[in-house]
Amino acid sequence: MTETYRTRSEEETEAIARVVLSLCNGTANTILLIGDLGAGKTAFVRGLVGATGGDPQDVSSPTFVLMQEYAGDMTVYHVDLYRLRPEEVVDFEPQIHDLIDRGGIVAIEWADRLPAPYDGALQVRIEDQGDDDRLLSVERVTSETASRA
Ligand code: ADP
Ligand code: MG
Repeated sequence: MTETYRTRSEEETEAIARVVLSLCNGTANTILLIGDLGAGKTAFVRGLVGATGGDPQDVSSPTFVLMQEYAGDMTVYHVDLYRLRPEEVVDFEPQIHDLIDRGGIVAIEWADRLPAPYDGALQVRIEDQGDDDRLLSVERVTSETASRA
């Protein structure tokens, strides 16, 4: 099932991240973010960090690092695959799995570059609808959707 949300500002997208986090309520700790440059993926992560007691101002696009870690009541691991070539994504995947096993929240930008989405993860697709309008579609990855056509 897909839940959709419309936002009209960066702050609204941050607020939706809180809602999505409360919806997953401990049942998913991996959030796959998909959307073009400037869609609002990093803004969404900022919302996650604020919601888990971290400092949202620390969140930026990891320009030269693949992963940033934000401490809070729960640690948020922020992964950005943008700069990786497909074969580098494959090499990096074991590290992503290690992060997932640590039990914090793992948010992955450009998750459509993964060979396949992770079963049980929440997938958040953000589409720019012009101006500051964004459409967020949230769905849980299941074994059926995980084998991407
Ligand atoms: P991404 O990580 O997907 O490349 P960012 O979160 O870094 O995108 O940037 C999103 C940009 O779009 C920011 O400049 C932000 O101010 C702007 N923006 C405008 N409207 C929205 C919205 N509704 N939600 C999120 N960002 C928005
Ligand atoms: Mg980004």
